[in-house]
Amino acid sequence: MGEKSLIELIRRRARGGSAVITGIGDDCAVLRVPAGHQMLVTTDFTLENVHFRREWHPPEVVGWRCLTRGLSDIAAIGGEPRAAFLSMALDRGVSQKWVNRFLAGLLEAAEEFRVPLAGGDTAQSGGGIQADIVVVGSVPKGTAVLRSGARPGDGIYVTGELGGSAAAIARMRKGKVRAADYERHFHPVARVKVGQWLRRRGLASAMIDVSDGLSTDLQHICKESGVGAEIEVAKIPRARVGRPAQRVEMDQALHGGEDYELLFTSPKKVPAKVAGIPITKIGQITQNGGMVLAEKGGGRRRLVARGWEHFKRN
Ligand code: ADP
Ligand code: MG
Repeated sequence: MGEKSLIELIRRRARGGSAVITGIGDDCAVLRVPAGHQMLVTTDFTLENVHFRREWHPPEVVGWRCLTRGLSDIAAIGGEPRAAFLSMALDRGVSQKWVNRFLAGLLEAAEEFRVPLAGGDTAQSGGGIQADIVVVGSVPKGTAVLRSGARPGDGIYVTGELGGSAAAIARMRKGKVRAADYERHFHPVARVKVGQWLRRRGLASAMIDVSDGLSTDLQHICKESGVGAEIEVAKIPRARVGRPAQRVEMDQALHGGEDYELLFTSPKKVPAKVAGIPITKIGQITQNGGMVLAEKGGGRRRLVARGWEHFKRN
């Protein structure tokens, strides 16, 4: 299938949305930004053998996760996603069926989050599959929840559970797994509602999504806010995955990436559940002094960021 017919197919399958005045088919998409809002733009690669493997991840999963990466960034600002753009490079060996199933997964997420696919680019790659998702969103002026707002004394909170995605990858290195036993890896749901709720209530002083791992993403907040952090090991919500379900290893919860949970700080009391998602307090922000892990027995050790970093041996 050539580029033109592939774009035609995508155009037929994509839905419009309130933000899109002109979508797929012209030189640019024309978008409507609500009065009094600021625009958000995020872009994320999905690269074969870096973010997924064809033998591990069904095409629908790759498509779903591709859009989820972008939605999760919008969630981490407390924003509303408005439109998505998909740039894809495929080598000649990629079957039409693979592309169809990839699109089905991506468009399922688009439908669920009511985010129209409003454009993109399609090209032949030099080898393998590469996709880039751009998500455009908006927030009421001046209300974006940044990484830089954490202050000493703020509580540190996380949504859902951590480490489930890293545990899935560790398990797949040993053999086949059932996707249903590792939901958060194969079907992560971006915490868009939670992020918006926190932003509306003015509850989050700083926020980030856990895409690289708790230790690394917490370090981003600390660096941008000029603060330190103390985490209570026993409080970290470790995911239960596999069959029979087992708690993931502490290192997977501390450093594993791609859980797409929200990590945020707050000077106020935060409910135990927001938009149906459990929220756990795992520590508090300190004066600058780096990141510290407080152990059950009273011991303390430095928390080193060992999450995902490109161009570094992980
Ligand atoms: P141009 O030559 O201006 O880059 P294209 O022929 O690449 O135009 O794209 C035509 C239309 O199809 C544009 O609206 C573009 O946004 C859209 N499009 C191209 N590839 C994709 C894709 N993979 N997903 C969604 N829309 C796409
Ligand atoms: Mg183009």
